[in-house]
Amino acid sequence: MAATEANGALGRVIQEFGRLPGIGPKTAERLAHHLLVVEKSQALALAEAIRALKENIHLCRECFNVAEGEHCAVCADARRDVTIICVVEQTRDLMALEKTGMYRGVYHVLGGRLAPLENIGPEQLTVDHLLRRVQKGGVQEIIMATNPTLEGDGTALYISSLLGPTGVKITRLARGLPSGSQMEFANKEMLADALEGRRGF
Ligand SMILES: [Zn+2]
Repeated sequence: MAATEANGALGRVIQEFGRLPGIGPKTAERLAHHLLVVEKSQALALAEAIRALKENIHLCRECFNVAEGEHCAVCADARRDVTIICVVEQTRDLMALEKTGMYRGVYHVLGGRLAPLENIGPEQLTVDHLLRRVQKGGVQEIIMATNPTLEGDGTALYISSLLGPTGVKITRLARGLPSGSQMEFANKEMLADALEGRRGF
């Protein structure tokens, strides 16, 4: 039976899974049937984790990373160097960089990249807030760590021209990252190299 023909509670679960990225109708069906047979506690743990994710987590006031309080774990850590801001497209990129253990500065999460064809302009991102952070003073370096894709590069270029008048030093990650790849899929060593070899924008 196709997922669309299912109804009731099982049909709803299949439908919800099917709305997730990368999950087709067959997989949605398989996951839903899996939940049907596992222990109740295991299935409810998933529901509870999703609920906690949406209710307890919001965005950091300063950098737009995920946070459980007003500030994220990075911004709340007094040992981080607030004079260096690493600009990433999304939280997953920040997490990938954090895993290298090489970076001691802070971040700014844009919430995406400029994509004119999808009508995503600067106003849909946290670009203004980044500019204000730099204008407040005290920032010495901005590391552009957008994805090495056409849109990621375009976003970095836009931001660097926007920040140009502030006089802040702008660098970007070295091309240890293969062009067209996604930061979240890069391995630790590749990201560490890219961070080390960053150069003037
Ligand atoms: Zn933060």
